[in-house]
Amino acid sequence: MSTIKESLLRFRESVEPQATLVAVSKTKPISDLQEAYEAGQRHLGENKIQEMTEKWEALPKDIHWHMIGHTQRNKVKYMAPYVHLIHSVDSPRLLKEINKQGKNNDRVINCLLQIHVAQEDSKFGFDEQELIALLQDQAFKEYEHIQIKGLMGMATFTENKDQVREEFRSLADLFKKIQKEKLLSSRHDFTELSMGMTGDYEIAMEEGSTMIRIGSAIFGSRN
Ligand SMILES: *Cc1c(COP(=O)(O)O)cnc(C)c1O
Repeated sequence: MSTIKESLLRFRESVEPQATLVAVSKTKPISDLQEAYEAGQRHLGENKIQEMTEKWEALPKDIHWHMIGHTQRNKVKYMAPYVHLIHSVDSPRLLKEINKQGKNNDRVINCLLQIHVAQEDSKFGFDEQELIALLQDQAFKEYEHIQIKGLMGMATFTENKDQVREEFRSLADLFKKIQKEKLLSSRHDFTELSMGMTGDYEIAMEEGSTMIRIGSAIFGSRN
């Protein structure tokens, strides 16, 4: 059994059915993705639109492609025809562009709103106030070509597990608040909480994650 296959099966066993495993294949060659595909993996994550599009063109069409990286508006059009879920929606302007490209492609594009919970400025995302303002915005309410499936966040890169847990918990609390107070219209199937990667997925699972994004523990470390 190959290493990629073994790791995939091991991770799927530990996160399913609570969470979907997104295998993060950024920087990895097509042959590695093909191996993951042959092991039954259908959710792959990439952080660059151009790279993802090249891989989409080369691989079977029943793969669900997840965009997990910071996205430039002028490149949304390249993934709009096929992307399964954009995890990293971090501004109202980006959302507007995704809606426009969804319309151009006659489809509804699934999005997660990225929330800034880490104590690192390098990470992108809305804070709670900005999120609430967005959800109440009239222009936002009229976007018919996006569906908000949930929230995504990244914890601070630290050894301090209590801090990581606290950050995931604040994200999960915000997620539950939006559900409970019905801050989104019911046309959005708001059920996904994307949090957890190789270093912190166990804590994320305990705090209620429904999507785990694992790269290096499956495909090996990146250069
Ligand atoms: C690269 C990346 C991952 C996967 O990271 P690993 O530590 O390799 O598991 C998860 N989420 C995002 C947003 C990433 O950019």
